[in-house]
Amino acid sequence: MTLIYDELTRLNKAFKRKYNRDIKIRVEEMPADMVGKALGYASYFKEAIIIDAELYYENKERYVEHVVAHEACHLYTMNLYGYGVRAHGKQFKRVVNRLQLPKSVGMAKTREFNHSEVLMKRYAKTHPFQWECKACKVILQLNTREHKVTTLRAAYRCAECKGPITFIEKVNSSSTLSSL
Ligand SMILES: [Zn+2]
Ligand SMILES: [Zn+2]
Repeated sequence: MTLIYDELTRLNKAFKRKYNRDIKIRVEEMPADMVGKALGYASYFKEAIIIDAELYYENKERYVEHVVAHEACHLYTMNLYGYGVRAHGKQFKRVVNRLQLPKSVGMAKTREFNHSEVLMKRYAKTHPFQWECKACKVILQLNTREHKVTTLRAAYRCAECKGPITFIEKVNSSSTLSSL
């Protein structure tokens, strides 16, 4: 986790320079029941950032640049403004800006993880039913409930053309989805 601590040291120094405040940020691994619910999160109570180790090891630079910096900014915002401000509101964005971090760090969702294999595999586990729009060649992955209602009455349609989708197969959760 050297890269995470290096980045936090760098960010804490920048925070000290701009706001003249000292902060120590701890790092903890995400408990199993939280994995998949967020890329990472900040604990105000522990003054810690909670990381998804599997995602970190998949691509350390990306994780540090997009998740560690984002969560650290939550702790800086908390340190400066307390509990009463919106999570991704103007105070948070001001901190991101003053620490000269990329604008994307201030966004609630980052697109950088759209092609993460770790996330795709996790998603395939909970959404193993593959459907396809034949017209657009777009694959949709549905969970059990979505699969059932689509089989019964075409509840889910192609996001592109709004046309009907066709069931292809149930994917084995251990295999990689090469088609995505
Ligand atoms: Zn956030
Ligand atoms: Zn379509």
